Amino acid sequence: MNYGSIARIAEKYGAKTSFDEKIAGHTSFNIGGVCDIIVQPNSAECIRELVAECRKSSYKYYIFGKGSNVLVSDSGLRGVVIIIGSEYSGITRDGNRLICDSGATLTKICTAAKNYGLSGLEFVYGIPGTAGGALYMNAGAYGGEMKDAVVYCDYLDSDGIVKRMERKDMQLSYRHSVFSGSDKIILSVCFELCERNAEEIAAKMAEVMHKRRDKQPLEYPSAGSTFKRPEGYFAAKLIEDSGLKGFTVGGAQVSEKHSGFVINKGGATCSDVVRLISDIKDKVYKDSGVKLECEILLIE
Ligand SMILES: Cc1cc2nc3c(=O)[nH]c(=O)nc-3n(C[C@H](O)[C@H](O)[C@H](O)COP(=O)(O)OP(=O)(O)OC[C@H]3O[C@@H](n4cnc5c(N)ncnc54)[C@H](O)[C@@H]3O)c2cc1C
Repeated sequence: MNYGSIARIAEKYGAKTSFDEKIAGHTSFNIGGVCDIIVQPNSAECIRELVAECRKSSYKYYIFGKGSNVLVSDSGLRGVVIIIGSEYSGITRDGNRLICDSGATLTKICTAAKNYGLSGLEFVYGIPGTAGGALYMNAGAYGGEMKDAVVYCDYLDSDGIVKRMERKDMQLSYRHSVFSGSDKIILSVCFELCERNAEEIAAKMAEVMHKRRDKQPLEYPSAGSTFKRPEGYFAAKLIEDSGLKGFTVGGAQVSEKHSGFVINKGGATCSDVVRLISDIKDKVYKDSGVKLECEILLIE
C-alpha cells in the first residue's frame, strides 16, 4: 500500500510524515520496528481528516501520544501511525482553567500551570506522556489522578464528529477510562486548577521529580510501571520476593533500582520484553498466587 491519500492530507496541512521509519524513536522504551507511514498532525482538523480517510479506505490506524506506555512489535505496524504529540500541543488559559491540545506533554502543561500560578497538577509532573495519553490511561501518581483535575475533553467519535464529554461520563478509574480500547480520539483536555504562589508550585514539582529520580530507573528506556497494582499488593514487592530483581532476557531486565520497571538495558527487542513479562507473571503466580496484569500496552 502506498498511502498516497494519507500523504496528500498530511502535505495539505504541512504535517510531518515519514515512510518506513522505525517507531522505536517515538517510544520511551526505544523498541519497535519499521512502520509503513508515520504522520504527526498539527491540528484537530488534520487529525479528523486523516482518521476519516483511514476509515474510508479501510486503512488500519494507530494513535500514539509520546509512546511512553506502549510496547511496539519488532515487526513494526502495517497501517497509518498517527502521533498526536509536540506538533499539536497548544495550551490556552481561561481563568483557572487550562485547555490543552491532546499532544501537549504533562511537563509542558505543569510548567505552564506553574507560570500562571495555577496549582492542581503538580503530582503528574515527570510522567512523560501527553494530555491525551494520560486521560486515556487516567494516569496518576503520588495520590493524584487525571480525574482530580479534568473538567471536560473534546474528542472525535467513531463517526468522525467532534463531541464534548464531561468528567462524570469518562468512567475514570485506576488506569482506565471510557477511551481505553475504544475508537474515540481525544483532541483536547480542559483542567480546572486553583490559584497558588508559583514558588510553592515549583517546590512541589521539584519534590515530586526528586522522588521519581530517587526511586525510578530514569537513566534507562522503559515504559514506566510494567504491571498494574494488584489489589492489596505491590507488584514490585511481589517481583522482588520472587527473586526476580535484575532478571534478564536478552536486552530486557527487571530494574535493579525498582522491580516494578522492566528496562531496556541496551538493544532489547519487543520479544525480549514479552518473554520477560511472561516469565515474571508465571513465577509471581507460582510463588504468591497473584496474577499480575500488564499496565504497558502491547501494540502489534
Ligand atoms: C519513566 C516513566 C514513568 C512513568 N510514570 C508514570 C506514573 O507515575 N503514572 C502513570 O500513570 N503512568 C506513568 N508512566 C506511563 C505513561 O507515561 C503514562 O501512562 C502516560 O499517560 C501515557 O501517555 P502517552 O502520551 O505516552 O501515551 P502513549 O503511550 O502514546 O499511548 C497510550 C495509549 O493511549 C492512547 N492515546 C494516546 N493519545 C491519545 C489520544 N489523543 N486520543 C486517544 N487515545 C490516545 C494510545 O492509543 C495508547 O493506547 C510512566 C512512563 C515512564 C516511561
